[in-house]
Amino acid sequence: VRATRGGEEVKAYVPSMGQIFLRRFQMVTQFRQAIEEGQVTVHYQPKVALPGKQVLGVEALVRWQHPEFGRVDPDEFVPAVEAAGLVGVLTSFVLDTALDRVRRWLDEGLRISVAVNLSVRNLADADFPSRVAESLERFGVPGELLTLELTESGVMQDPERALPILRGLSALGIELAVDDFGTGYSSLAYLRQLPVDQVKIDKSFVFGMGTDLGDLAVVRSIVELGHSLGLTVVAEGVEEDLARDQLEAMGCDVAQGYLISRPLAEDRLEAWLQARTVRSLDRTSEAVLTL
Ligand code: C2E
Ligand code: MG
Ligand code: MG
Ligand code: MG
Repeated sequence: VRATRGGEEVKAYVPSMGQIFLRRFQMVTQFRQAIEEGQVTVHYQPKVALPGKQVLGVEALVRWQHPEFGRVDPDEFVPAVEAAGLVGVLTSFVLDTALDRVRRWLDEGLRISVAVNLSVRNLADADFPSRVAESLERFGVPGELLTLELTESGVMQDPERALPILRGLSALGIELAVDDFGTGYSSLAYLRQLPVDQVKIDKSFVFGMGTDLGDLAVVRSIVELGHSLGLTVVAEGVEEDLARDQLEAMGCDVAQGYLISRPLAEDRLEAWLQARTVRSLDRTSEAVLTL
């Protein structure tokens, strides 16, 4: 692509459709092996209580360091993996990695929950709840320390099929969260019928709330709606003190975002927690931020 800016010719690299297709094809065919070779890892982003600074849990976010393409974002490879019917492999990998992490925290006396993102395809798999149950049992993690995040559009795509699966998951005592809330098209009435425990306000509204009254109104109404339905309300994309203060004033329960921490590789998360936690001797208290 060529364009001119101030009389100067500027060239930008725009991959052709063929190149995009080839790259996606390569990625999906290499995915299983990439997991085996350790190219695919899980990073964790802390979530803290509002008000206060108690670390309640972390969200597991997948990362792929590809030998040829470098770091590939989940927004690119997750849809490709889904389309190739390989999402079961992805979800199992992330779930097992995350539960293994929670197990080791429990052994150190820390109760930190982990949230794992689901794909629409997981909600079409009738065996999925029993696979989650098997994983919890294998790692000896109580259901209440696992949250599964699903998007509104994921549920709305085929509610008839998703609902029994959600009920099966809910019966395991885990938390279910609706992710990216506010961006989809689900009705409030429908949300009431789902066995969900949490709503996560989409980051686009949280980014805008300091300067845009419309975004502020959306955030406020999600907090009110969520609470009136008895749900825990989580805000993602909290980047600034102002947003955190506004959310706290509205009564939003949990904050997640770069202000608190970016997603961290496991060793960096450990260092982050070590610097901030009071580890109890009786092995029962939760991680508490001391700063
Ligand atoms: P999500 O589940 O809504 O995750 C939150 C995304 O927002 C993450 O992007 C996180 O890094 C980013 N984020 C959090 N706080 C801030 C902030 O303050 N500012 C900004 N600019 N961004 C923030 P990430 O890791 O790139 O993941 C993107 C999406 O990919 C996720 O959105 C989720 O839908 C999907 N994804 C990630 N990991 C998995 C996975 O293991 N399985 C599945 N099925 N999907 C995944
Ligand atoms: Mg999520
Ligand atoms: Mg989100
Ligand atoms: Mg998302």
